[in-house]
Amino acid sequence: MTQTHILVIPYPAQGHVIPSMQLSHELVKHGIKVTFVNTDFTHNRIVKALQEKCVVGNEIQLVSIPDGLEDGEDRNNLGKLTEVLFEVMPKKLEMLIEEINKSVSNKITCIVADGNLGWALEVSKKMGIRTVAFWPASASLLILFFSLQKLIDDGIIDRDGTPAKDTTIQLSPMMPVMRTTEFTWACIGDKKTTKITIEAVKRNNKALKVAEWVICNSTYNHEAAALAFAPEILPIGPLLESNHIEYLAANFWPEDSTCLNWLDQQQPNSVIYVAFGSFTIFDHRQLQELAHGLEQCNKPFLWVVRSDINNGKNEIFLKEFEERMFPHGKVVQWAPQKKVLSHPSVACFLSHCGWNSIMEGTTNGVTFLCWPYFADQFINETYICDIWKVGLKLDRNSGIITREDITCKIKQLLLDEEFQIRALKLKKSALNSVKEGGSSNKNFNDFIDWIKSYA
Ligand code: UDP
Repeated sequence: MTQTHILVIPYPAQGHVIPSMQLSHELVKHGIKVTFVNTDFTHNRIVKALQEKCVVGNEIQLVSIPDGLEDGEDRNNLGKLTEVLFEVMPKKLEMLIEEINKSVSNKITCIVADGNLGWALEVSKKMGIRTVAFWPASASLLILFFSLQKLIDDGIIDRDGTPAKDTTIQLSPMMPVMRTTEFTWACIGDKKTTKITIEAVKRNNKALKVAEWVICNSTYNHEAAALAFAPEILPIGPLLESNHIEYLAANFWPEDSTCLNWLDQQQPNSVIYVAFGSFTIFDHRQLQELAHGLEQCNKPFLWVVRSDINNGKNEIFLKEFEERMFPHGKVVQWAPQKKVLSHPSVACFLSHCGWNSIMEGTTNGVTFLCWPYFADQFINETYICDIWKVGLKLDRNSGIITREDITCKIKQLLLDEEFQIRALKLKKSALNSVKEGGSSNKNFNDFIDWIKSYA
């Protein structure tokens, strides 16, 4: 019998590549060979960030194809990126698959593509390969996307995705209440980006309908109502990092592990971990206000400040702040986040509410202070604060989040034990779902049995 061979294709952004790589490691554990397809740009970033720590195992082969953008073009412009990917990558992907399939023994059995890459699902179908969509965000977000036409028909948004008015909706009872002006496509960039996103969502929705499986990095405990509303979405999360020596995390920035030694020296349950994922940027004033807020909390903190978080504008301020705060507070450019969140010294997570950060935080029982930036992060904030009740929102009404609000909410989070009790309960149920016999474990094993039956 030949070995099952899966092609995994993430959307080229950090919050998509990491969970797709985690999924690949899970597939490998079941004896499956994985070819992991990045864009050339992403591939080069990952390899560079690894520095000399080359930890790629034999069963995950990294390959890459061009994304269609020129060297030096802004790949954080999601509208442009999404538009260009459609134009260039389908043909390149087809050529890559044809090349791999020339081998008699190593043909691709199945393609697992990010649900945001409808064109990759289309290529897979066209070539007669088993087609699976992997959704790295919340099921609620996917349901919002599936509801696009109804939202247009009901006049809640126009054809270009612009909300008719600033109001709230609920797609089904117990699902997060969503504010129309915070619909993902409406807060992802300018009007042009919104329009491109809407067109991409329409195309992806069609492609997702023909995928044989839609699996997502969530659990029935995290999203009971959403997953009951759309039972075709099968949760297999939380995807966890393993300590295996050959584990490749697929970071875009080199990890600074010195923070783990620093955490070892802190009291249990005392540290505020502050990180905003891979996209968030801050203006000059807001960044300084955050720094003052952390200083005034009078608690040890670990703050991830990416080199591009402020386009270098606060370099002197940040350097001085970092030196003055150390060793009470520590600043790094990119942390081994999953290890940080599982460290016993960490008490709470000041987070931008990216879905991966949320899954990682809830799996480790931390409480959250929410600072959403864009896209689906507002829905995720609602999950944290209104549904799971494991965190607090910051006040965004005055246009700037103040140091007073930061210190006051951190204090509230650390003093009110109810937050911690609920966070530990969510952790327990999340971990149970991936144990033998748990709901995510069962979905994943069913998926593996299905795919292996085609080898
Ligand atoms: N991350 C990390 N180190 C950091 C900050 C983030 O490894 O210092 C990882 C984090 O663990 C998560 C991913 O980067 O897996 C960010 O994904 P998320 O969905 O939270 O946010 P996004 O970057 O998509 O906004």
